[in-house]
Amino acid sequence: MTGWRKISISAMFAFSVSVVAAMPRTGNAADLPALPKAKAADTLAADEVRLYALDCGRIDESSFGGYSDTGEYDGKPRTMSAPCFVIRHPRGVLLWDTGLGDKFAAIKGGVDEDGTHLSVRVRLVDQLQAIGLTPGGIDYVAFSHLHADHTGNANLFGHSTFLMNAKEIAWASATPPPLGVDPATFGVYESANKQVIERDHDVFGDGRVLILRAPGHTPGHQVLLLRLKKAGSVILSGDLYHSRENRQFRRVPAFNDSRADTLAYMDRIETLIKNLHARLVIQHDPADFAALPTFPAYLN
Ligand SMILES: [Zn+2]
Repeated sequence: MTGWRKISISAMFAFSVSVVAAMPRTGNAADLPALPKAKAADTLAADEVRLYALDCGRIDESSFGGYSDTGEYDGKPRTMSAPCFVIRHPRGVLLWDTGLGDKFAAIKGGVDEDGTHLSVRVRLVDQLQAIGLTPGGIDYVAFSHLHADHTGNANLFGHSTFLMNAKEIAWASATPPPLGVDPATFGVYESANKQVIERDHDVFGDGRVLILRAPGHTPGHQVLLLRLKKAGSVILSGDLYHSRENRQFRRVPAFNDSRADTLAYMDRIETLIKNLHARLVIQHDPADFAALPTFPAYLN
């Protein structure tokens, strides 16, 4: 397949490096001013878990070709959503993925690079504020994986505990960084509190918010399973799939780390979906994002 290097991953990496270089440095956690923990706008019930879906950017590809290694999308354009998710649990708040980065919101109309258009309509910090949160009120930050379209705002959370997948961080720490990874976007984790995750991980210890291994897209890729009281089981896909068609036809992006792992963990997650009667949210599919309650409404 020709041209797959020209997809968003390389474009994002090239762009984010130049932007980050021009931006003031965030500094270490120790240098950051103490952030007040905002009181949540409304109170959770003692046994309530809520899922909020936040708009953390949009990716317009002039060719979606790289998102399947069997040629179906060559030369065809596609738009992807880039959401972030806030999970409020009686024992704390988790942020799952951090989007393209609020830096893009300052650039009117977004950025064009190498066939990819990146834009952010509304800042993550403003959306957090709308539900009574500041970055200081986020207890845990976790990532489906460490590609730049998921780590853009990570450096806002130097006061949070970073839940880092051991295999992912080992892979992303290579010199030079792997394609699509921009270590400058999440560098704050080094000085922040962190927990290293080796396998599946129960975030709050009660089985209701679970990070599950699903490698293939990257070596430490993972999905998030929520067991909600009213909405039932919901799985946030990360980049296990990039579109509903990729799920339907089990298509594997050309730039995935392992084709075999991708297919094996599609099997794991699809079996889990069947067993739990779960709803899968494909994070990059705009239709799946639009089907969720419009922020600040939530699932619970
Ligand atoms: Zn992605």
